[in-house]
Amino acid sequence: MKKTAPDKQSNAGASADRTVQNDGHELWNSGLSMLDEIAPRINLEEGIHAILRKPELELTVNVPVTMDDEQVKVFTGYRIQHSSARGPCKGGIRYHPGVDLNEIRALSALMTWKCAVVNIPYGGSKGGVQCDPMHMSEGELCRMTRGFTKMILPVIGGKRDIPAPDMNTNEQTMAWIVDTVSSIKGNMELEIVTGKPVSLGGAAGRKEATGRGVAMCVKELLKRKRLPIENTTVAVQGYGNVGSIVAVTLHELGCKVVAISDITGGRYNPRGLDIPALNTYVAAHPKGLLEGYKTEDADRITNEELLSLKVDLLIPAALENQIHAGNVNSIKARMVIEAANGPVTREADSVLNNREIVVVPDILANAGGVVVSYLEWVQNLQCFMWPAEEVNANLERTMKESFNSVWNLAHKHNVSLRIAAYMLAVEKVAGVMRLRGLSHSTE
Ligand code: NAD
Repeated sequence: MKKTAPDKQSNAGASADRTVQNDGHELWNSGLSMLDEIAPRINLEEGIHAILRKPELELTVNVPVTMDDEQVKVFTGYRIQHSSARGPCKGGIRYHPGVDLNEIRALSALMTWKCAVVNIPYGGSKGGVQCDPMHMSEGELCRMTRGFTKMILPVIGGKRDIPAPDMNTNEQTMAWIVDTVSSIKGNMELEIVTGKPVSLGGAAGRKEATGRGVAMCVKELLKRKRLPIENTTVAVQGYGNVGSIVAVTLHELGCKVVAISDITGGRYNPRGLDIPALNTYVAAHPKGLLEGYKTEDADRITNEELLSLKVDLLIPAALENQIHAGNVNSIKARMVIEAANGPVTREADSVLNNREIVVVPDILANAGGVVVSYLEWVQNLQCFMWPAEEVNANLERTMKESFNSVWNLAHKHNVSLRIAAYMLAVEKVAGVMRLRGLSHSTE
């Protein structure tokens, strides 16, 4: 008989990953207040406004997992669909101790706006499991993923809601989901998720797409500011899938990446870090961390110190709510590019605006991942594969066009890039809701 551990959420536990807490409530309220601010600017009907203030569907599941020590632990997970107005819902799955209902709600709404900004035919959703993956084995993660997948299966599907990787999930996680769903259904269900390994229906370049998309936004921004990219100084917070690709791409473009960090702290060299050496180290680390990286020409810094460095570009690529009322006045960067979702709180955003620090918002900056996810999904539906060059060319074209639309709208209305991106996105979603007759009745 298996023993059952007391259900105190102790499995989420304390971890180094919680040095900076995320606050789902703050993120969800920020999203709502942004929508409320946009509504009068675009004359949004009350009915549509009310519909978009609430997710369409919220599913909470409690997933029992037999741990390696034979104890059973129960992990709480969520799948939330904010809007399916423009197409099947799309959004990643996150494993993190800070996952809660409000965080996943907020992230699902961000996906609705993000897909609209880059004009791909998806709605928005998100999923997550409250757990501490840094202290779980591969086997435990696999069993938890399979259990979670079975429990959310009634609401996901290639034409309904398509998950992808997010924090602490990756190609391997997606492969487990494909296998679980395909085994249950008795046929291959590649289109159930994106971000799969290339050998299992994944798109060439999907893993790198979010980071590359961020770098493309940097290029577009610097071009418009008439600033050279060479020797532009960069600090990147978070060195996972997104942060490491941003750093390496900007390094290759000639930027000077002076600081990077992860949950274990950061490294700083004002003359520029050896990014290829750092990547080799992180790739070999069992948990993909900077922990233990020793070099004579890089100093250790904390995450808080990294955020306040005097650099041209500050790129938060970890968690939400990292730049907030309490630390915004210490920000010395000239531009902030939101590679993470929701890294700047509403209050901090308005301070940055007043200080004329340009912020490229998450729903534009990190949209590259969902753009290539869309290509992967189209490939799977057609049993087809594009070469990497075509995927990357499509990504570049979409990011450039989207940046251009947001930039032009911001200048036309004399508003921030964030307000412009939201105006564009909400109007696009509302337009489809009007066409479909979803604006005032559910008949
Ligand atoms: P990841 O798990 O691969 O990497 C996250 C990184 O952040 C790790 O290096 C981790 O150590 C670090 N980190 C975690 N907590 C931290 C803290 N408190 N301080 C400093 N560093 C911390 O995740 P990812 O896929 O790179 O996602 C990063 C962000 O980008 C998230 O906000 C995610 O929602 C967003 N995003 C990801 C994708 C994608 O395709 N993966 C797409 C769009 C947006």
